[in-house]
Formats: sequence, structure tokens, C-alpha cells
Amino acid sequence: MTNTRGKNHHIESPEEKQNRHKAMEAISVINSLKEEFKNPIDAMGYFYRLFEEVYCHQKSLHEDKLKVGTMCIQIPSEIIYAFDAVPIRLCNGFYTDDDIGSDLLPQKACPLVKATVGHFASGNFSDKPDFVYSPTTCDQKTKAGATIEGFGYEVIDVDFPRVKESEISREYFRRSIRDFTLDLAKKTGKKLTKKKLRETISKIGYAQSLYHRLCEYRKEKEIVINGNDMFLVTNAFFFDRIDSWTDAVETLLDECEKRRDENLTVAAKVSPRIVYTGSPPIFPNYKIPMLIEQSDAVIVADETCSSNRMFNDRVAVDEWFVNDMLDSMADKYLKACTCPIFTKNDDRIRRVIDLVNSYDADGVIYQAFAGCTVYELEQRSVLEAMEREGIPILYLESDYSPSQGGQLSTRVEAFVESLKMKKRKQG
Ligand code: SF4
Ligand code: SF4
Repeated sequence: MTNTRGKNHHIESPEEKQNRHKAMEAISVINSLKEEFKNPIDAMGYFYRLFEEVYCHQKSLHEDKLKVGTMCIQIPSEIIYAFDAVPIRLCNGFYTDDDIGSDLLPQKACPLVKATVGHFASGNFSDKPDFVYSPTTCDQKTKAGATIEGFGYEVIDVDFPRVKESEISREYFRRSIRDFTLDLAKKTGKKLTKKKLRETISKIGYAQSLYHRLCEYRKEKEIVINGNDMFLVTNAFFFDRIDSWTDAVETLLDECEKRRDENLTVAAKVSPRIVYTGSPPIFPNYKIPMLIEQSDAVIVADETCSSNRMFNDRVAVDEWFVNDMLDSMADKYLKACTCPIFTKNDDRIRRVIDLVNSYDADGVIYQAFAGCTVYELEQRSVLEAMEREGIPILYLESDYSPSQGGQLSTRVEAFVESLKMKKRKQG
């Protein structure tokens, strides 16, 4: 097209506009992480570049591989890798996609679900999934699968129980995982071997052990890595090449060790130590974690499905036969999940209390996405439990919109200030 001055003028397509908005969202968070916190870590450069390449330049990381989309944490990555395919977790944190999803789902739906659906609607994937497995976890995720199918994707439901403790649930999910494995074998045209599965269990186990080693530094008095960087590291596990991820985390661990020796910290002595729980922070929606650390507190641990829950428990295998390994994985993925989708969820309360004690935290911040009924419902029991234990807790409801900032920051700052005063009094 030619404008009146005779110069070529490109008219942006809706897709280009969406990509530009997403790139702006991504870069603004990456720049904040790079520039706003004291003593930045060199080894985080890998993760900043990764997110920039994937979300600002749509760089594909798995061109030559079969890409298996997953809608939640209950699909065992070990099995996908054992078929020589790549898992891509599709939980999404972009406001641009949430906005697109708002035209397709009820306005009041969970922003994570709306953003995931919006992402499929726009189709702007750097690595487009070949098909998608959707565990029947919360109602909104369960129903989102049908909408996503409408955009031409194959979505396979994976039955997931809502009762955690019963033997029936355990059997049910074991069968579900066996069905999922058969389906994946059909789709890939490959046979699942004992050797391959054992190798991938150990690969994921190694990644988990690196995560746990990183967390050890967060238990120390002097904190060498902030919580927002940790969220970025764990969010990268959603889509990165696993070997590149483990190499980058090994480098990060070396630097953390050096920083500890040199007393190079990211937080002041008086900075309150926070355990973060609730709806998961997914890049670039770090609104609440950012507010916390910009208010001079530091997130020392979290209980969320975008971070701690992915790495917490290891697969415990008794017999190294394929079916035994599959059963062990089903058990692990069911038991380790502390999402409020379950009828009773005492594990979650126990875990939060345990994190507060082992990370010497001063308080808990609980975020529920507006529209997420289960996190909203479960806040009461968590708040009561914290009260019984004498642990200060702040409950916040938030969404992906950039407009809420002022009101939330006032509440976060007031909470952080009250914890600081308490800390000062205690000397
Ligand atoms: S919040 Fe629960 S249902 Fe949603 S992605 Fe996380 S584990 Fe799955
Ligand atoms: S935040 Fe709530 S509604 Fe959203 S995916 Fe998680 S459980 Fe489902």
C-alpha cells in the first residue's frame, strides 16, 4: 500500500498486532527482572534470552520433534520423552491472550484458562502442539478442551479423579495413565521400552534434584536468588529443551554457590521472607510476585503448580517393568498434586506450613485468580490454618489486567511493612 507521500506503508495484520503486544508484555517483564533488583545473577542471562527469543521472536526450539501439548501438570513428561516426543505445557500467562479468550469464554472465567484458549484462537505458537492432552482437573480447564477443539486441534481428555485419598481414585488414575500411554504409542507409532522409560524417569529426576539444590540456597539467611527469577527458571521447564535447561540450571547453581561464599545477596536482612501460594504465576503474569519483591520482601518458597509442585516429589519405582513404572508415575502425579480441585486438600495446608518452617518465612501471600472458584473457596481453610499456627497471611484476588496495580500494591506494601516491623521488634 502507498500513502499520500508515496512511501510504502505496511498495515499491521491482527496477528502481527497480537504478536507485537505479546512481545511488549514479555520484554517489559524481562527488563524489570534484569534491571529492578539488586545484584542480578549473570547465569539468569540464559533464561532472559530464552523467553525473549520464544516470546518476542517466535523462535522454535523443537522443530524436528513431535510436540505433545499438555493442559496441566498431571501428564507425566517422563512418558512423553520416552516416546522421543516433547511435552509443551500450554498454561498461559499473557494478558493479550486473556483478552482474546474473553470473547470466547465467560468474561468472569479464570484468566489462565482464558489466556490458554486465546492462545489457541490466535495460533501464534513458536512450537505448535501436534495434539493436546487435557486432564479433567478443574471445571474450566475441562470445558476449555472443547473450545480448543473448535480451532482444529485434537484434544484428548485424560480422566482425573477429584478425590485424592481413595483406592478407587488411585486405580482410576492408573488406568487413565495406561490409556494415555497406549494412545501416545498409537500416535507416535513407537513402542514404549523399559530402557527408554527408565532413562527418562532418571532425566526428570535429575532436573528435580537440581531444582531442590537451588531451593537449598533459599533456606539460608542470606538469599542469593530472588523468587521472580526462580519462577522464570521453573516456567522455562514448560517448553525448553530439557538438556539445555539442566545445563543452564547447573551454571546457575555454580553461581549461587559463589555468591553465597561472597555474601552477595538479593535482599536486605530486614526484608520479610514470603511463601507464595495459590493460582500459579505464569510468565509474563508476574504481577503479584513482582509487587512483593518490589516492596522489599523476598519470595523464599512457593506452593504453586507453575513451580514447586512440578518438582516436588520423585517417582518411586519398586519394579522396573513398564507397567510398574506407569503405575508409580500415576501414583506420584496424583499424590503430589495439591491443587484445590480435590474434595479434601489437607496436603496443601501441611505443605504450606512445612515451607514456612523450613524456609524460615515471615508470612504467606495467597493469590487467587478472579474467576477461580476452587482457589477462592479454599482460602478460608488455609487462612484458618495459618491463623492457628500464628503465621501472618495476606489473601489477594487478581487477574491478568495491567490496571489493578495501584490497589494491589497498597495491600502488598502494607503487609510487607507490618512484617518488617515485627522483624525489627524481634531484633
Ligand atoms: S491450577 Fe490446578 S488445574 Fe490449573 S493448571 Fe494448576 S494444577 Fe492444573
Ligand atoms: S487457577 Fe483455578 S480455574 Fe484457573 S486453572 Fe487453576 S484451578 Fe482452574
